[in-house]
Amino acid sequence: MNRARSDTLVLHLPDALATEALARRLAPGLAPGFVLYLSGDLGAGKTTFTRALLRSLGFGGRVKSPSFSLLESYDLSRFRLYHFDFYRFDSEQDWLDAGFEEFIGAPNVAIVEWPERAGGTLPTPDLHLFLRFAGDTGSEARIVEAVAGTDRGRACLKALAPTDERC
Ligand code: ADP
Ligand code: MG
Repeated sequence: MNRARSDTLVLHLPDALATEALARRLAPGLAPGFVLYLSGDLGAGKTTFTRALLRSLGFGGRVKSPSFSLLESYDLSRFRLYHFDFYRFDSEQDWLDAGFEEFIGAPNVAIVEWPERAGGTLPTPDLHLFLRFAGDTGSEARIVEAVAGTDRGRACLKALAPTDERC
């Protein structure tokens, strides 16, 4: 089930613990300017992934879903991380009006759930994860396709494969 090309990695995630472990493998590869997009239906695990990533980066507080606030920010030791959720955007104009562009890119790290709701004007991400449900209804199984958009993202793909430890 797991397969890799140079810019794409597909992994089977049997349960939420596997999704959290994937986030922990990505964490060391994040650096100022890193842009991560998370796509997938409601409940696919985008926020679960982000929460585990923040824990791994040393954040001990509450990680709220930004589905209502659109944006949560975290001051971490190495950078500030912005966690966006654009589910409530209706059009590209909502994204343009929100004025979030300046938060995406160096010196921050940006994680965006529902990037497709912002229309076509978001920057190319270093990494884009597509989470989808696998197995029967109610199953915890997910499939994740990780697509690298930059050299930095390609380096991270290696770390996401279960046998490697870090970017
Ligand atoms: P999203 O942000 O994509 O809408 P959430 O992360 O908020 O989704 O919710 C995912 C829910 O599904 C959580 O309750 C989580 O515990 C559960 N879950 C079950 N299996 C998995 C899995 N393999 N990966 C991620 N979450 C899972
Ligand atoms: Mg979410």
